[in-house]
Amino acid sequence: MIGISFNQKEFEYDAYTLLKAFFPKEEIQMFYVQEEEVPTDLNHLVSITYGTQVYIRIQWEESFLEGWEAYEETENRKIRKNKLKQVLYKLLSQLTGQTLPWGNLTGIRPTKIAMGLIESGMSNAQAADYMRKTYFTSNEKTALAITIANRERELLKDIDYEKGYSLYVGIPFCPSICLYCSFSSSPLQRWKDQVDAYLDALLKELDFIAEAMKDRVLDTIYIGGGTPTTLEPEQLERLLGHISMKFPVHQVKEYTVEAGRPDSITREKLQAIRKFPVTRISVNPQTMNQATLELIGRKHTVEDTRHAFALARECGFDNINMDIIVGLPGEKKEDVQHTLEEIKKLDPDSLTVHSLAVKRAARLRMFQEQYEEMEFINNQEIMDMAIKYAYQCQMGPYYLYRQKNMCGNLENIGYAKVDKAGIYNILIMEEKQSILAAGADASTKFVFQNGERIERAENVKDVANYISRIDEMIERKRVGIDTWLK
Ligand code: SF4
Repeated sequence: MIGISFNQKEFEYDAYTLLKAFFPKEEIQMFYVQEEEVPTDLNHLVSITYGTQVYIRIQWEESFLEGWEAYEETENRKIRKNKLKQVLYKLLSQLTGQTLPWGNLTGIRPTKIAMGLIESGMSNAQAADYMRKTYFTSNEKTALAITIANRERELLKDIDYEKGYSLYVGIPFCPSICLYCSFSSSPLQRWKDQVDAYLDALLKELDFIAEAMKDRVLDTIYIGGGTPTTLEPEQLERLLGHISMKFPVHQVKEYTVEAGRPDSITREKLQAIRKFPVTRISVNPQTMNQATLELIGRKHTVEDTRHAFALARECGFDNINMDIIVGLPGEKKEDVQHTLEEIKKLDPDSLTVHSLAVKRAARLRMFQEQYEEMEFINNQEIMDMAIKYAYQCQMGPYYLYRQKNMCGNLENIGYAKVDKAGIYNILIMEEKQSILAAGADASTKFVFQNGERIERAENVKDVANYISRIDEMIERKRVGIDTWLK
């Protein structure tokens, strides 16, 4: 176990996350020296002291390293945080002999930083230089962040951040729960009898949003989850029909329904979706290796994926995304290559390559002893291979984000063919526009002053609670909207 001590409560999370990035398998315990005794039996201790400078001392068994950086008391929080992370990163690099691809960046939105620098008036070269010197990002990741930030700027150029908004609608049911799932998704079988009651509550919340936002411009709609195609065809028609009645669906720039799990997709459901102006769907294989699908509890076959994709094309969908995950248990580079080869044959319009991130809630973590023998491999070589395949499929990278506990400490990248990028994906990552979200576990995000300040209105996670407390969810939203539009 590694101990990490602080003399005050500031930037603990940043320091912890950076330490974890260097030592992903180690347990790390945090202490505040003024409140508790630091245990004497720790072999490794990182002590962080703030005063007129940040001073860090790393005691690693018998040896120790130290570093510091002075700062003025008047310096702002961001500068102080950057200095702390710079000192810590240099010491950890020295200790381990390692550098990290994203340097000392621990947040989930590196492209937002690149975008902010470019929008502040820096040239691409200046922004790249700033990122390398401030965050120690590698040349490759810096170039990737700058490239994607420029692509995003181009894709968002017609979005009205001030007057516009996007709509998210959550369907929190799945055919079975994947082993790595960290969403609060519920197995459909258990909730089958409640789905109509869930839709009643959801439509009530949508009615409120439609009325409250009637003077605003709706830019994108995203129906996600969970798996929206766990709904029966008539339930899908009820939901999409209601949205069509209440929102200006023909004016939106993008309308996505995440079909997601291939085992939930049928011709009837796809035909039901086609009755509405949906522009984009997702059919998500995650892997095209049957043994892995069984291991991760997806309960569908590779053939189901091929079949669902072919059905979607037959039904006329011309913008189909596929999601895959790299770093799944037991998968080596050859397995990922096989998945990419199979995807290439299907020829989707966009592809999102995720690095496995095991968050706290995932069963994979709860049963980690069971998977101890299993390797979780992801590295730059595999990510480079994915980029190569994406280019072969005429796709370029257009959005990027990171998550906590990512396998290989890398990133998730969305690739798309020309004109097939998912605008909603960029909006949610760059936090430029307010997103009104309906459904259990949906989180509405109000964006103030072009992203300077973000406030959220959260719905409860549990389906039964959501149904019984729908008026309270609407009230939370009403308060948020009133503050936002004031
Ligand atoms: S399909 Fe997605 S939301 Fe559903 S259980 Fe699997 S990972 Fe979770």
